[in-house]
Amino acid sequence: MTTTTPTTFPVAQLQCETDTGIETVPLAEEASFGSWQPSIPERYWGMDADELTRRIHAARETLGDEVVVLGHHYQREDIIQFADERGDSFGLAQYAADRGESKYIVFCGVHFMAEAADILRADHQTVILPNMEAGCSMADMAAEPDVWSAWRELEDFFGSTDDIIPVTYMNSAASLKAFCGANGGVVCTSSNATKVLEWAFERGKRVFFFPDQHLGRNTGHAMDIPLEEMVLWDWRAPAGNLGRATAEELERSRIILWQGHCSVHQRFSLAQIEQARAQYPDVKIVVHPECRYDVVQEADANGSTAFIVKYVQEAPAGSVIGVGTEINLVSRLAKEHPDKTVFCLDPVVCPCSTMYRVHPAYLAWVMESLVEGEVVNRIAVPDHQRQDAKVALERMLALK
Ligand code: SF4
Repeated sequence: MTTTTPTTFPVAQLQCETDTGIETVPLAEEASFGSWQPSIPERYWGMDADELTRRIHAARETLGDEVVVLGHHYQREDIIQFADERGDSFGLAQYAADRGESKYIVFCGVHFMAEAADILRADHQTVILPNMEAGCSMADMAAEPDVWSAWRELEDFFGSTDDIIPVTYMNSAASLKAFCGANGGVVCTSSNATKVLEWAFERGKRVFFFPDQHLGRNTGHAMDIPLEEMVLWDWRAPAGNLGRATAEELERSRIILWQGHCSVHQRFSLAQIEQARAQYPDVKIVVHPECRYDVVQEADANGSTAFIVKYVQEAPAGSVIGVGTEINLVSRLAKEHPDKTVFCLDPVVCPCSTMYRVHPAYLAWVMESLVEGEVVNRIAVPDHQRQDAKVALERMLALK
């Protein structure tokens, strides 16, 4: 089945490049296929969307409850149609762990999400990521050696890290969740970041927050922490430079923000909000907290993907809603709520390029391999990391 996104967004100048359709074309015709996982057998390269859909349906039927397919909100429609459950990264990992009857968890999302599912899975479960090149540019901005290097610099500067609580956003590698577990820290999601920071400030004077500076800053501001008490740590600075922060900035800091960002959400701007309001005086603007501080301040509401979904669902019929998040989700919301006008704020927004790598050919490949008794693309977090990462996740889960 070839799926297209809605073509009737309300304002010509607010249209997205992809409004005419995020269509599935054969892998070989994908401009970026050269940088995706190359080991997929050649027989899948030329299959069109209809053939892939038929094959995935057939494999699903054969596998039955043995497999559960998870679809992150930002996945394309040709993948979402197969999802037993759709949601955000943490919700999906929890759902999979509760689906004990399913031996195989096929996670249609990006690498850190499949790792989180592997950390929370039961012993008899196996997690599979259809395309191993589906990473996350934000997660990649915080490499474990860089975080350790910063931690040691902070230890030298303050004399100890006893008073610093590391907090990592869900959107990070398992190694960083393990770092937090081993150093008295915790994981947060965009839904519970405030609660997690409150927990952290009960245990320490400062929070070391990574990898998303925007979620950290927006959450700190919502907790009445002044901007000047949130200092940016530039991980690209040579070691020994205190992440380009001054001694004075570090001394007065309550949150040390890793200089990472989401390339999708950082594109939303004040100018786009102004343009939407000029066009629609009654428009409501809702954005994700991975957006910049000024954008979040200007929006009518902000919250996680789950929050945005609920915001649109609960808006009265006839509402006009400009959304600052990934285009696949915005397009789906527009389609599911024809009684409301739902559009993406960014006129040239692209889908998350790494989520997009989960092309149906990869899903067909991993599912048909399972039918043949072969597991391809298993995600296996090393045991030592799994234990520490689980500690950090469980600290978060214990927060009610
Ligand atoms: S939308 Fe942003 S944070 Fe989410 S997977 Fe894509 S790059 Fe990473």
